[in-house]
Amino acid sequence: MSGLPQPELHKDAKYVFLSDWDGTITDKDSNDFLTDTYGFGAAQRKAHNQKVLKGDLHFRDSFREMLLSVSDNGHDFESCKELLRQNIGLDPGFETFYSWCKENGIPVIIVSSGMAPIIRAVLEKLVGEAEAAKIEIIANDVKYTDAEGTGKTWEIVWRHPESGFGHDKSQSIIPYRSLENKPTLFFAGDGVSDLSAARHADVLFTKVAEDGASDLLKFCVRENIPHVAVANFSQILEDVQKVVVGGETTAQVIAEANHPTSTSA
Ligand SMILES: [Mg+2]
Repeated sequence: MSGLPQPELHKDAKYVFLSDWDGTITDKDSNDFLTDTYGFGAAQRKAHNQKVLKGDLHFRDSFREMLLSVSDNGHDFESCKELLRQNIGLDPGFETFYSWCKENGIPVIIVSSGMAPIIRAVLEKLVGEAEAAKIEIIANDVKYTDAEGTGKTWEIVWRHPESGFGHDKSQSIIPYRSLENKPTLFFAGDGVSDLSAARHADVLFTKVAEDGASDLLKFCVRENIPHVAVANFSQILEDVQKVVVGGETTAQVIAEANHPTSTSA
């Protein structure tokens, strides 16, 4: 497979938690915010997402156009990073969730269609440089396209350029399934970049925003994909603990799926 290298698996882990970054771990989607602030704006972005959901446009091509609209408007990469460092926050339950997973030996891996340098920059601001350096990120990358190589102009580099997703998130989950001791696999996501991962985790958490929006939830309902709708990482932690500490099966957790947000979206 061409593109960026495949990361190492956590072969001895009993549980692995993989999560989308934008709008799932963060309080809002950084690429949406960037596009709405510096690029072609919210209306065109939402129209693109609808086409992706319907299957009329690849996520990769939609996302490339979003980012091109930012770069073409004259916004260099550093100013984009800074905008996001100033405006993106964490899900209120994430740090407690992350600490608990760390104490219990559960790898938490960020699986993102965003660009790794932006995710690192935002994470450093939110949790500090030392902690940010320890968090594993599987994402796309960036290439500076100006002659000086300073990021005056830039474009996204896909992890899986041949995939219509640009980064096929299922490739971060599926290899775990053939391990001799397959871990229990959790995945959390919220949007069109997560459609590729939706069918491959043992428990899929669909995060629903405060206004009820969740393209991933819509997709799961339409496609009949079992999932647990959640509003935040505090609810996710409760469910992960049910499996890890309480001994419930993943099927039980999905069947319960009774967080308040389940009926609101
Ligand atoms: Mg997202």
